[in-house]
Amino acid sequence: MAIALVTGASRGIGKATALQLAGEGYTVAVNYHRNIKAATDVIRTIVDAGGKAFAVRADISDEAQVLAMFESLDREGEPLTALVNNAGILFEQSTIENLSAERINRVLATNVTGYFLCCREAVKRMSHKHGGQGGAIVNVSSAASRLGAPGEYVDYAASKGAVDSLTTGLALEVAAQGIRVNCVRPGLIYTDIHASGGEPGRVDRVKSLLPMQRGGQPEEVAQAIAWLLSDKASYVTGSFLELAGGK
Ligand code: NAP
Repeated sequence: MAIALVTGASRGIGKATALQLAGEGYTVAVNYHRNIKAATDVIRTIVDAGGKAFAVRADISDEAQVLAMFESLDREGEPLTALVNNAGILFEQSTIENLSAERINRVLATNVTGYFLCCREAVKRMSHKHGGQGGAIVNVSSAASRLGAPGEYVDYAASKGAVDSLTTGLALEVAAQGIRVNCVRPGLIYTDIHASGGEPGRVDRVKSLLPMQRGGQPEEVAQAIAWLLSDKASYVTGSFLELAGGK
């Protein structure tokens, strides 16, 4: 059928999205950075359920690795029609006065440059302008782009602000080329990312502050992503879907 590339698909929201898209008939390219065991487990789950998937290792902040990843997709013999820009990082909770340039640059390199590079390569393959059959891109931003994440990770929030602008700009650039570009903004979702911020139990600590008073599951985000990629969303582009329990 067609390939869907999901970056950061070894764990969390990316993993749930890979499983969802495989169930809908895509051949899923499961991108990961370091955790080959987790990526292999995702592939096994998909194949055991009768689906198709393969792993592609690449650090999305590294241009050469992104190019090599897309070239490996080209050799699969199926068109790339869906990209989920999902891989993202954050570091220990901190105020701005304690942020180093090195940390800020690392966050931006993955969460912003990585998204740009994957969009660029996907557009080259999907666009009618380049002989492609069209496609859809979903960028995974965050409610943090609206809320700013004060005292925790404003660098991360700012990177997601850039993802929002990328979504708007790219959606307009390629709207007439057969490519839709949309964005999801999850809030507090139960994944490993909160441990990276130094607080694995963060969702349970702050969930009572949400209107819905609970955290979200990765599968709830995955279903929204899958809908935005699907023909059911055929007239939707440049849109932002909030998945944040009402906040
Ligand atoms: P997660 O559980 O920490 O998983 C992160 C994934 O990204 C892993 O598959 C990891 O691969 C991959 N990754 C990290 N750096 C990478 C790189 N440089 N190149 C390629 N892959 C890389 O994260 P998550 O919570 O599912 O987050 C997924 C996305 O949702 C992120 O963009 C995040 O900002 C966004 N988000 C999450 C929440 C939340 O509450 N969880 C809320 C809003 C937005 P390895 O397994 O190989 O390390």
